[in-house]
Amino acid sequence: MESNNMHICNSRFGEKLADIEISHLNSCESCQADFALFAKVRANVKVMELKSPPVGMWPNIYNAQATSKKKKASQQKKIMLWQTSATLAVAFCFLALGWLFISNQRLEMKLDELLLANQLLELQLKQNVHPSFSQARLVSQVQEIEGQLLKANSLKE
Ligand SMILES: [Zn+2]
Repeated sequence: MESNNMHICNSRFGEKLADIEISHLNSCESCQADFALFAKVRANVKVMELKSPPVGMWPNIYNAQATSKKKKASQQKKIMLWQTSATLAVAFCFLALGWLFISNQRLEMKLDELLLANQLLELQLKQNVHPSFSQARLVSQVQEIEGQLLKANSLKE
């Protein structure tokens, strides 16, 4: 009878005990003492009257309740604020990543456009043995921008 060697859980004293618990109680001094103490406490609680606080205490009690409610509300506000900022931060990260991706693609597209324009200009210059001053300046400007774009691209990579 192993379960007979186990003490009865104190919380069980308020309920109807099982047969095995009753047989343990009859043979265990420790549980009998606990049971007696529990019965005494229960009897005292029944006799006790609920005392109301002194009249002057009620405002303090109401204030304490209101303060704890306010505290809870402000804590919830803080949690919500934190959640909102975390969500915003994640959204911002995604936006930034998307923007970087798009701007990189745009840069590459611009670079391709410029290369094409440059090739066209060079072709025109070859056909036109004496290029005008403005045409020559345009080519050098395009080449300069091309160089900057290439540098920016290689820096990104
Ligand atoms: Zn016991």
